[in-house]
Amino acid sequence: MHKDARIFIADDHGLIGEAIRTRLRADGYENLLGDPGKPSLIDAREVEAFFSRTLPEYVFAVGGESGGIGANQKLPADLMLNNLLVDCHVIDSACRCGVKKLLYMGSSCCYPRACLQPMQVSSLMTGVLESTNEAYATAKLAGIKLSQAYRQQHGIDMISAIPANVFGPGDDFGVEDSHVIAALMVKMHQAKLSQADNVEVWGSGSPRREFIYVADVADAAIFLMNQYSSSVPINLGSGSDASIREIAELIKEVVGFSGELRFNPKKPDGMPLKSLDSSELFALGWQPKISLRLGLEKTYQWYLDTCHRDI
Ligand code: GDP
Repeated sequence: MHKDARIFIADDHGLIGEAIRTRLRADGYENLLGDPGKPSLIDAREVEAFFSRTLPEYVFAVGGESGGIGANQKLPADLMLNNLLVDCHVIDSACRCGVKKLLYMGSSCCYPRACLQPMQVSSLMTGVLESTNEAYATAKLAGIKLSQAYRQQHGIDMISAIPANVFGPGDDFGVEDSHVIAALMVKMHQAKLSQADNVEVWGSGSPRREFIYVADVADAAIFLMNQYSSSVPINLGSGSDASIREIAELIKEVVGFSGELRFNPKKPDGMPLKSLDSSELFALGWQPKISLRLGLEKTYQWYLDTCHRDI
């Protein structure tokens, strides 16, 4: 991407989109489209009109709603529909307007539940999906497949990345629908303020997840836009995983909550393990820069600054 390339970050309200925007601006990319004035991605006409008017050259397709295990169980239809619509509108409009390149951001939920670990892209579509997020994962798989189909049929450079569990500033900090890090941070913060003696942690604490800080995801997405061209998706991870119990202990330290972590086995565990084989990305020369601990500290500081200015 040259510095005055026309770039569209296709997101409605995104953690990843916002981090890409910040990073591109800092790197001197001036021509970020739709800022303000971006279309609602679930509206086909708005998206088509926007693409025809602005003619993006590079598209980061990072839109579509997502949520934690609670949201996936409560709102499977909403999440699936939203992602299918957004993916169809963005990928098709990008093709019609002749973009140079599109990066589609998938999800590690796309891997089969009983996948060999660490997960390799050759395992995609080889087994049954985790039931707690099957609807969302099916939509994200459709997005990957749609990009591949457009690449094959129309010869447009569409690539897909599959990130590990993303966290960081801009995350949804609701308690019920958010992902685990944001949910536990809020619960522990509130417990600290109210001097509660325990916090509920869902499930057994034994599932393992690989987390990646959102600024690293943005950095890797820009790196891939510049360096990677293939129909084969590429994993985008940090290279290490931790159990939910370990994550909860770390968040406890970062937040400064001194009470007990009470695991609730009636709540779902989801996938037993999600760890990505990102060796291909690392071999291209990319490495994450923010450790889990530092990422958690930055995220908590952002939460305090943004959501609790009065405290
Ligand atoms: P997942 O990676 O798609 O399963 O999504 P999540 O980020 O929602 O959940 C990851 C893991 O964290 C699951 O094993 C949950 O049971 C566990 N977990 C523990 N406490 C919480 C919580 O308060 N909220 C969420 N969302 N997950 C939690």
